Amino acid sequence: MAYKVSKVRLAKYTLLAFWFTLRNLFRKPVTVQYPMVKRPIPDRWRGGTFALTTDKETGEENCIGCKLCEKICPSGVIDVEMEKHDGRGWAKSFVLDLQGCLQCELCVQVCPTDAIVMLQGMETPVTRREDFILDKNKLMMNENIFRAAWATGLKLQDLHEPKK
Ligand code: SF4
Ligand code: SF4
Repeated sequence: MAYKVSKVRLAKYTLLAFWFTLRNLFRKPVTVQYPMVKRPIPDRWRGGTFALTTDKETGEENCIGCKLCEKICPSGVIDVEMEKHDGRGWAKSFVLDLQGCLQCELCVQVCPTDAIVMLQGMETPVTRREDFILDKNKLMMNENIFRAAWATGLKLQDLHEPKK
């Protein structure tokens, strides 16, 4: 009896498999021929890599070296050295090691000057471990290579403000 039941089930699931195959033959494919064809990146998507921004009007670096991003990073992959001159703080050095980054965005959320941003840069393959280490130069160059994500520190902080 058990043998007969399993034969029935076998036939049922074989037919079902044929049915699914047949049905999908006439469906529009959901895959694209990447990299020749690229899907649009959703507006709110951010990730991959980071940039340090500059003021669009003055060209000055936005980072004031306050180390808030370094303090909040749960992975401890940010290292900022601060210096002061011209009446403000600067990042003397800024290193972000992407190898341990969780893409949690906390560093962006706490930044008081919109200096660090996540990007819409998915295609950032590297072949050497050291290429995961983003120093200040690389981070500043990234601003010109990739599109910045919409979410900056000040916008995100504004979202967290209680509604009046
Ligand atoms: S996204 Fe999160 S884990 Fe990555 S550097 Fe920023 S705070 Fe650290
Ligand atoms: S990126 Fe922002 S949070 Fe980090 S040190 Fe610079 S100003 Fe401070």
